[in-house]
Amino acid sequence: MWRINIRALVADNTWDALRWSFGATRDLPPCFFAWEMSLPTPNEKTPIECRICGAQEDRLELHEKWQYDDKHRIQRLVDLIPLCHNCHLSFHFGRADQLGLGEKVKRHIAKINHWDKRQTDKHLVEAFNKWRLRSQYPYSLDLNWLYQWIPKSKVHFDWLENPRHWTKNKVDWLCRKHLFVRRLFAGASGGRMIYQGP
Ligand SMILES: [Zn+2]
Repeated sequence: MWRINIRALVADNTWDALRWSFGATRDLPPCFFAWEMSLPTPNEKTPIECRICGAQEDRLELHEKWQYDDKHRIQRLVDLIPLCHNCHLSFHFGRADQLGLGEKVKRHIAKINHWDKRQTDKHLVEAFNKWRLRSQYPYSLDLNWLYQWIPKSKVHFDWLENPRHWTKNKVDWLCRKHLFVRRLFAGASGGRMIYQGP
């Protein structure tokens, strides 16, 4: 929603470890370093299922749940939850629309919430307006929730600032985000990312 995602700020094996730990897959991450052992261990009996619609699949997507403090303009990470593709796109409707899946995801939102078309459209308009309003201002990121599980040294904000650090598979994604972030922060912080540490 806010054009920042944790997946882009951590190494692939860290993201794989988070996916395993928070119930999006049974696959153990390929490099399971000691520092990752502080991650919660998932219960093997708990099925890999979408937290919203209950769909059970071998591999789910991991959604970052944020809370936004309008008074202090802080975007706070509060949870990572496993979701199926359709439920995940429901939280990123702009992205769904870009992919040409807008109508399909709209039907999914309506079905999950037992809404008719009018209620669904109203919800999407309200969500978009809220996003547009909040996007006008710089905001801080609060990742303290994440730092209880992984050390800050594993979260690389410099990837947003220093293209030489970008890994190949992140380049396209980050190029677009980088432009947006620079524009967003140009006034308040001289183009530098600001975030709130512990
Ligand atoms: Zn689902």
